Amino acid sequence: MILVFRIKDLNVNIDNKKVLRDFNLTINDGEVHVIMGKNGIGKSTLCRVILNDPNYKVISGSIIYNNSNLLLKETYEIARSGIMLIGQTPISIEGVTNAEMLRTALREKENKNINIFEFNKKMEEICEKLGLEKEFIHKEVNVGASGGERKKIELLHMAMLNPSFLILDEIDSGLDVDALKVVSNFINEYHKKTKCSILIISHHPSIVNYIKPNYVHILSSGKISKTGDKSLAFKIEDEGFKTSEVGENE
Ligand code: ADP
Ligand code: MG
Repeated sequence: MILVFRIKDLNVNIDNKKVLRDFNLTINDGEVHVIMGKNGIGKSTLCRVILNDPNYKVISGSIIYNNSNLLLKETYEIARSGIMLIGQTPISIEGVTNAEMLRTALREKENKNINIFEFNKKMEEICEKLGLEKEFIHKEVNVGASGGERKKIELLHMAMLNPSFLILDEIDSGLDVDALKVVSNFINEYHKKTKCSILIISHHPSIVNYIKPNYVHILSSGKISKTGDKSLAFKIEDEGFKTSEVGENE
């Protein structure tokens, strides 16, 4: 099955301010896209709107995945359809451990009981790969975890839940160089294995050194102002966002 993801003429307001205007983006099955843009331009807004966060006001447009409009779905239905967002600052959930959450989610998703032995073994293997203490498996989700550990815990969830479309909002923020390498290798391996599509959001051009994109886009004035390959990211590194070359028009 070919899973095309297409955003068409999307307009989003926050407090009567237009954050996204006539925004368009198509991501074909298995492609890796990077969206870059300066602080406060609307990158996280885009991520949240894809998951249909009710706090954001969509004025018009459509977001199609697997032939259905995500704007008509609840967030849990969107997650079930295979889309996963790893947010900029993963929240903690008191009273629910990672193991409990993942076992419940997998049971829902696969509609069958999970073999507890295999489940634990897989979680331990993933922690090992991520350099994440195994104790986290039975700790409450993200409680007492550092910024870097939270990103790794989200990746543990990813590897257990098997999304087909992955959105990474500033996955590189709060990671030291070693952690960034581990995290990027893990994502690259997952991409290679599953052929999932990936949307990477970042304001650090150097992310393309770690995860190789098919396309790099610049978000400016509510829409994509320029598209290129990874050399566009290096251009930003050299020239910043405020050049006519990258379409910033302030
Ligand atoms: P980015 O991720 O590109 O840094 P955001 O999408 O977080 O930017 O924010 C875009 C704009 O919308 C900013 O001006 C921000 O202050 C505003 N904004 C985002 N989310 C909210 C919110 N929940 N309530 C009020 N303003 C918001
Ligand atoms: Mg953001």
